[in-house]
Amino acid sequence: MTPSDKTPSFQTIDKLEEEVLLLEIANHDLQQKIKNYEFDQYKLQEIQRLAKAGSWELNHLSYDLEISDELSLLLYSKPSHAVDISWHGFLNMISVSQHKDIKKKLLENVIRHGENLVFDHNLLVPGGRTIFIRHHCKTFYNSIGQPLITVGLILDITNEHNQSIELERLSITDELTCLYNRRYTNNILKEQHKILQRYRKTSSYIMLDIDHFKRVNDEFGHQAGDKVLKEVAKAIKSNIRCTDYAGRWGGEEFFIVCQNTLLESAVILAEKLRKVFMKIQIPNVGGITASFGVGEIIYGESVDSIIKRIDDALYEAKENGRNQVRVAKSIL
Ligand code: GH3
Ligand code: MG
Ligand code: MG
Repeated sequence: MTPSDKTPSFQTIDKLEEEVLLLEIANHDLQQKIKNYEFDQYKLQEIQRLAKAGSWELNHLSYDLEISDELSLLLYSKPSHAVDISWHGFLNMISVSQHKDIKKKLLENVIRHGENLVFDHNLLVPGGRTIFIRHHCKTFYNSIGQPLITVGLILDITNEHNQSIELERLSITDELTCLYNRRYTNNILKEQHKILQRYRKTSSYIMLDIDHFKRVNDEFGHQAGDKVLKEVAKAIKSNIRCTDYAGRWGGEEFFIVCQNTLLESAVILAEKLRKVFMKIQIPNVGGITASFGVGEIIYGESVDSIIKRIDDALYEAKENGRNQVRVAKSIL
């Protein structure tokens, strides 16, 4: 064999150079794809950060749970590479006391039955904080119907949730006295009416009106009048049961709903309140009194009818000299 036999021919070198060139092009394409992939990841991360939305992905073969940086920050206040979370640990954050059914729905409806679900629920995150989230979930299956991965998107809606609770509270509360407002008191009455028709559970009501309240305003000013209203509301709140509802019916009129209560007990409460009011002393104003109408709703009676009966009783108390309790006339 001559040395020239070992040296590759020009054709072989050309071929090799061509292959190297192709590999370089492929490598360049691959590098470009990696860059695009990293940019996609970055875009996803940024959009999750802006939307305050995190994501998770559960692999059903390995049972590994991966969470995005945004979700990790939301749950642990740390980036995802610094936390070690298991599927079991994640499920435990769905506070068991309130959301047993959410956990069940996630496992049964989303993973087993392939439903795409959206739940609003809270999460008890490490450190004892509770956050409120909107949770979108979907499972992907292989060709023979076995689950491959489940993905979830979690939006932190704690602020919106707290705001809506606050708005709801404001919409049912009287600003001055912090008792229920008239609209909500009316709703309670309608609810009680339904309970009576369905379960024959009766309830009794007290309507009370501060005596000569106009004089307080006239003599001591509107602010002194407001102070009286607040004190009366405070006294009502601290003397009723936690199952009773107290509302401001109008200017200086209040309404108390005593659910599951017979007339006799409501009369006792009204008498007690009347005496409590007599002990109230408002600085610069002095003492106050109030008149009361009390009644028990009868099965089959309308809300308007019981209110009219109690209002008439209150009118009688006023006519009869004020600072007294009058029982509504029976319709039986
Ligand atoms: P009566 O014993 O017959 O109930 O006499 P009254 O003076 O209490 O009743 P009247 O209806 O003549 O006057 C009620 C007053 O309550 C008139 C109104 O200006 C006042 N009032 C209504 N709402 C408010 C309020 O939010 N704050 C204050 N300070 N006064 C109010
Ligand atoms: Mg009045
Ligand atoms: Mg009055």
